[in-house]
Amino acid sequence: MKIIKTVMEMRAALKSFRDEGSIIGFVPTMGYLHQGHLSLIRRARQSSDMVVISIFVNPTQFGPQEDLDRYPRNLKRDAELAEEEGVDYIFHPDVSELYPEGYKTYVFVEELSDKLCGASRPGHFRGVTTIVLKLFNIIQPQLAYFGQKDALQAIIVRRMVEDLNLDIKIEVEPIVREADGLAMSSRNTYLSSEERKAALVLYRSLKLAEKSIKQGERDSSAIAHEIKKIINQEPSAKIDYISITDNKNLQELDIIKKETLIALAVHIGKTRLIDNIVIQV
Ligand code: AMP
Repeated sequence: MKIIKTVMEMRAALKSFRDEGSIIGFVPTMGYLHQGHLSLIRRARQSSDMVVISIFVNPTQFGPQEDLDRYPRNLKRDAELAEEEGVDYIFHPDVSELYPEGYKTYVFVEELSDKLCGASRPGHFRGVTTIVLKLFNIIQPQLAYFGQKDALQAIIVRRMVEDLNLDIKIEVEPIVREADGLAMSSRNTYLSSEERKAALVLYRSLKLAEKSIKQGERDSSAIAHEIKKIINQEPSAKIDYISITDNKNLQELDIIKKETLIALAVHIGKTRLIDNIVIQV
């Protein structure tokens, strides 16, 4: 496995494989790898000849008051984990390599980018789509893997790929959770042990919402109210949003339908966590 820092070297390393017709599978990440990332890498390994991951904490997707500077980083450990999973290349550029002085170009997926996390993190998805498109152009994979954990990100990336006629197949993999249900996230490391316990309220509220729906509740506002009540029982929890939408087009639903996405963002102390569940009725 090789760690590559420049666009030129990355292109040069992959050229001969691409010319031979090898399938390149790509997993974009911000590093501090956990089992959620590794599940994507394993899927890529199964379906591709070459597996490339990127580790890049992308400044353009962070707001001015967000955690860009303290986002956890550990390249040495990431490289060990990636190597164990059979990754061929880690692309790990410096910020100045991808955003040199004079950088001016951004990609924006309209409407969708203002929903869910886009509403509370203005500019976030503009940064995400810009970096993902740049990485796609550098790596030129045939397959790229994303997690359902960031449900809207996956929908927006699919939209961009379709709208811009990119020849890349997007695969979305299920959320990997800790044994007690907490969705794995690099940001979980910010949590104190008290907050770590409080953070379970996200998944607990989603599971209870699922149970109510399975028992016949169809009124979205009743479900949202129930979720709110459970989360508000945790003193350190502060709801950012509770969203109940059609999983396909992200239209808000008054009445729960066939395939419903319930997505949450909740601050536990200073840490903002997200989680979601898709419920079929
Ligand atoms: P990140 O490093 O947080 O930007 O995540 C990189 C990729 O891993 C994204 O496609 C995420 O959706 C995915 N991912 C993060 N956490 C999980 C998880 N718990 N389960 C599955 N995929 C995840």
